[in-house]
Amino acid sequence: MGRFILNYGNRGQWYGTFTHFSALSIKHGISSRFGGVSKPPFHSLNVALHTDDCDESVVINRQIFCQGIGIHSEHIVTAQQLHTDHIAVVTQDEKGRGASRYEDAIPNTDALITNVPGIPLMLFFADCVPVLIVDPVQRTIGAVHAGWRGTVEKIAQKTILSMQSNFGTKPEDCLVGIAPSIGPCCYVVNETVINELKKKFNNWNELIKETHEKDKWYFDLWKANVHQLEEIGVKANNVVTSRVCTACNHELFFSYRKENGVTGRIGAVIVL
Ligand SMILES: [Zn+2]
Repeated sequence: MGRFILNYGNRGQWYGTFTHFSALSIKHGISSRFGGVSKPPFHSLNVALHTDDCDESVVINRQIFCQGIGIHSEHIVTAQQLHTDHIAVVTQDEKGRGASRYEDAIPNTDALITNVPGIPLMLFFADCVPVLIVDPVQRTIGAVHAGWRGTVEKIAQKTILSMQSNFGTKPEDCLVGIAPSIGPCCYVVNETVINELKKKFNNWNELIKETHEKDKWYFDLWKANVHQLEEIGVKANNVVTSRVCTACNHELFFSYRKENGVTGRIGAVIVL
């Protein structure tokens, strides 16, 4: 099965890829902090416009990252992510939306799907879980932003079901990559999260672990995402989890928790 690997690009940027996607020549990548032009606290390859970083730096960083993997940064489609379970079907008309201006990004959306070649889907993360999906049979792709809310609302599962209703995707054909994000080693949540989790997951107790603090638990977002995909027939062997924690590795990736909310974002991008 596939693996998650780190690559060193020709412009000094480090980025991650999934070997099971690369084997199908699907261009994609997960950016890291290295090789960009942003100043602290966004140093250096912040690719998100909705931070307090200057837009010019972000656009340059997007060019550096995208060029490294052979994607046109001016064609990327992005979303105004709000921890919802809303999924947008991206068509030719959306090409370039949010590529250089946040106002143009698709509003109120946390997952993008398309069957149109040449339209890169890109979402932004600092600890939340990036889920990339490829259906090699119907030739469709998806990108998902799953924080705890999205994970509990099963946005990754809903995205594949949306690919099914829009494009005829079968879950058993899908290949999935779960990219660097906060791991069960570091992600501590309170009762609010646990109560929501209990409503949606029968096996909620397998997804959490006690901490030494009262009313605080470790929550395994990776397992919760894998579980909801297997629930609809995605094959365990087709899901590759990077198992790289962004809080443990905040020198390499941005971490919202580790850096008290003042930081940049990594990007996950994929194109047919
Ligand atoms: Zn960790």
